[in-house]
Amino acid sequence: AKTQQRSQFQFYIASVDSEIRERKRLEKDLSEALGKDEFHLLYQPQLDYKSGRIVGAEALIRWIHPERGFVPPDHFIPIAENNGSIIEIGLWVLDAACQQAKIWQDKGLDIKIAVNLSAVQFKDAGIEEDIRRALEKHQLAAQYLEVEITETGFMENLTKAIEILTRINQSGISTAVDDFGTGYSSLSYLKQLPVDKLKIDKQFVWDMVENKQDFSIVQAIIHLGKSLNMRVIAEGVETAEQEAHLIEMGCNIGQGYYYSKPVDPEAFEALLTDLKAA
Ligand code: C2E
Ligand code: CA
Ligand code: CA
Ligand code: CA
Repeated sequence: AKTQQRSQFQFYIASVDSEIRERKRLEKDLSEALGKDEFHLLYQPQLDYKSGRIVGAEALIRWIHPERGFVPPDHFIPIAENNGSIIEIGLWVLDAACQQAKIWQDKGLDIKIAVNLSAVQFKDAGIEEDIRRALEKHQLAAQYLEVEITETGFMENLTKAIEILTRINQSGISTAVDDFGTGYSSLSYLKQLPVDKLKIDKQFVWDMVENKQDFSIVQAIIHLGKSLNMRVIAEGVETAEQEAHLIEMGCNIGQGYYYSKPVDPEAFEALLTDLKAA
């Protein structure tokens, strides 16, 4: 039994060791991914329920590694946040999204692009300047850019977050609270924040048809948004039933596989034409 214990212990050490080495390799690959042009953005449509039109697109990063293949953002973004490389990656996202928004503008397509800002980026002193420069570089009007920030992105230093968000908002860029309802914060901060939109997390949307509590949470968020004069967007809409409930409750915008998965710009444009034809 003793030898068996020992070999299990050694196996454990070996597997932790290989996990650490794997993480190191991933970090190294991540640090080279920008230079090797391994990132691209996909766009997921946001449908305005009142007009029935696609009014926005969330930009979502994709990393295709030559050997690993697709690495999900939920896997590498936390690593990039941890080692700081999210700053550079985030700059690239901002630049690529503004470039795309400008292309759509020039084609006469009225699409606002929403970019996810990591809490790490948001806390970085250069964020406002970075945004301003990306808009300027691509000659993009501020109204075609939206930034999505999670609660954790501003809860650490609320006073400073209010200042930054106010300036971003005053420059004409819209602001959205992402994954709303999943954080631990109190709601009182909301009235102080210059935020245009609340984005309901997909967890609540998924379960709301079967689960009374989730249904109530979705309803409460929509009411809260309305009374604070914010628009409410639901993410993760997958079924007609969910859509019907959301519309009935007065949700403004829907995003989810029911409309489309995140797609490349060409496919996105095709969605716009399909919708017009319909
Ligand atoms: P998120 O910001 O909450 O984005 C929504 C996620 O839900 C996306 O996953 C999207 O593809 C997925 N989704 C949307 N509708 C549906 C649906 O109906 N069904 C299902 N199953 N999924 C749906 P994705 O693209 O894998 O991104 C995951 C997370 O990675 C994002 O969550 C965001 O936190 C982060 N992320 C993605 N792109 C970026 C980026 O450019 N910068 C930063 N900082 N984070 C990013
Ligand atoms: Ca988001
Ligand atoms: Ca979410
Ligand atoms: Ca998220």
